[in-house]
Amino acid sequence: MSEPLVRCVGLSRIYRVDGREVAALRGVDFSVPAGAFVAVTGRSGSGKTTLLNLIGGLDRPTAGEVYLGGRLLSTLSERERTELWRRQVGFVFQSFALLPTLSAFDNVALPLRITGVNRRERDARAQECLELVGLAEWAGHRPYELSGGQQQRIAIARALVHRPVLILADEPTGELDSATSREIFALLQRLTSEQRVTVIVASHDPLVHEYATWSVRLQDGRIEHSPAP
Ligand code: ADP
Ligand code: MG
Repeated sequence: MSEPLVRCVGLSRIYRVDGREVAALRGVDFSVPAGAFVAVTGRSGSGKTTLLNLIGGLDRPTAGEVYLGGRLLSTLSERERTELWRRQVGFVFQSFALLPTLSAFDNVALPLRITGVNRRERDARAQECLELVGLAEWAGHRPYELSGGQQQRIAIARALVHRPVLILADEPTGELDSATSREIFALLQRLTSEQRVTVIVASHDPLVHEYATWSVRLQDGRIEHSPAP
C-alpha cells in the first residue's frame, strides 16, 4: 500500500496551564489517504483543533510524530515548516478570517502576494479559485457585503490558491445554518474529487457524516471510533 498523505503516530499534546497539565491528545494514531474527505468529530474539548494544528504544523506534539506526504514534520527546519503551511496546506476556520478592507478577490489573492507570486499569476489563480467556489461574480465585493456562506466559500478559495495537497477546516460550518452548511460540505467534497485535494474537517455538526468519506471520533483526546477507510 502506498504511503498515506497524513500519518499520525502516537500523537500526544499536553498543555501546561498554571502548573497544571491538560492532555488534549493522548496517543492518537490516524492516517488519511490522498483524496479522502475525513471528518474528525467529537464534543467540544475532545482535541479536534489540537489535532488539526499538529497536522498542519502550527503546533508541535509533546510526543509522537506527524508525517505529511511521507515527510516527518519534526525534522523540518523552521523555514521548511513555514513553507509547508503556507503552500502545501490550506486552512479554513469557523470565523472565515477574511480581511474586511479587502475585496473578495484580494482576500483570495493575499496568500500569493505574501509569498511573492507575480501579479499576473496571482490574478489568474485568484480568478480560477473564485470560479471553483462559484463566486466569480462577487470578486469586487467586501466580506461584509456577502452572506456567511459566501464568506466561507471565499475563505475556501483562499485556502486553495496555492494548490495545496491538504485542506484543514476547523468547524467550517459553526456559524452557518444547516442549508448553508450542506453547501459548504458539498463544496469540500467536490474539491476532493475534482481538485485532488485531501480534506480533513473538524466538526461537531452531524451533517458532516453525509458528506465525508469516513469519520473518526475523538473523546478526551483519544480516537474512539475509527472504521477502516
Ligand atoms: P476541540 O477542538 O475538540 O474543542 P481542543 O483541541 O480545542 O478541542 O481542546 C482540547 C483540550 O485542550 C481542551 O481541554 C482544551 O481546554 C485544551 N486546550 C486547547 N488549547 C489549549 C491551549 N492553548 N492552552 C491550554 N489548554 C488548551
Ligand atoms: Mg475546536
